Amino acid sequence: MLVSQGLSVSGATLLFNWHYKLRQFEPCTEDFAKASQKFIEENLSFALPEIDTIQESDDRTVKFLFKLHDGRKIETVLIPSNKKYGICLSSQVGCAMKCSFCHTGLQGLERHLGTHEIVGQLLAAQKWLTENRPDDDRISTMVFMGQGEPLHNFDSVRKAIEIFITQHGLCYAADKITVSTAGFLPGLERWKDEMPGVNIALSLHSMDTAKRNELIPINAKYPVEKVLDAIDKIPKKKKSFVIYEYLLAKGFNDAEVDACQLGERLQGKRAFVNIIPFNPFPGAKYERPTREEVDRFKAWLDVYDVPSLVRFTKGHDILAACGQLNSKSS
Ligand code: SF4
Repeated sequence: MLVSQGLSVSGATLLFNWHYKLRQFEPCTEDFAKASQKFIEENLSFALPEIDTIQESDDRTVKFLFKLHDGRKIETVLIPSNKKYGICLSSQVGCAMKCSFCHTGLQGLERHLGTHEIVGQLLAAQKWLTENRPDDDRISTMVFMGQGEPLHNFDSVRKAIEIFITQHGLCYAADKITVSTAGFLPGLERWKDEMPGVNIALSLHSMDTAKRNELIPINAKYPVEKVLDAIDKIPKKKKSFVIYEYLLAKGFNDAEVDACQLGERLQGKRAFVNIIPFNPFPGAKYERPTREEVDRFKAWLDVYDVPSLVRFTKGHDILAACGQLNSKSS
């Protein structure tokens, strides 16, 4: 893309190497021809999102509130796992999907993030880790599960992923990246031809139309059956599977019938279910189930031989868990 805009191939390679491989954050212009230098000065910005606040949890989770060039704010979370981190990236400021269990959904959509703002979250978080936790600074996986519906901002997310995986860029393996969607069908229909081979996760949460409409209002426009059919049509790599997120809310979607509907639909598919006990936040309308209720739901699902795990999310004390990000109230 830089080349199509006027930078030489060698200039673009040098630039990618300097910023992504050597992790240099200052503009690099020294080794460039005059024309390339002029192009860089006129067209590119090297500014990272500015850290507004940082919260560190007892379990080493880190939540960044980043300030963007227009003063808007987004959140990014580092989730620790055995001396490495997974990073949870935002794709929009706020979100238009208005899921009823989600703190970000209450905020509404302010705007899409540009590719540079998505990649910038990773670079800024990496820089902070290197400076503050040098013995423990490796980000090994990334998930688009922060603020926003990534497939609603398809082009910017796809370009960011290309930078993450290209050998000239950050060189991550595609299977280390997961894009999570609430079921934005227009994006799923583009996935097969346009998205590099990253993992897909669906916020499923219920197979029942009325319950899913309440949890994820876009279900009324893009019904779950069509969404699941679209996901079934996406070619899967050997040994890969689709992750289905199931947020378990006490007395709402945690009955035996809910588990059976889920099991029947996913039985025999390349599926993995993450059962996530609901994380309450101020003003939330759902309750967290007890450990016993969670185990009971999993046992009902196990009957269908659909692999699943209960995920107890991290960073509770700083509201960094799934569905709790909201850059307005932080
Ligand atoms: S769960 Fe995801 S898609 Fe739904 S409102 Fe929250 S950020 Fe948006």
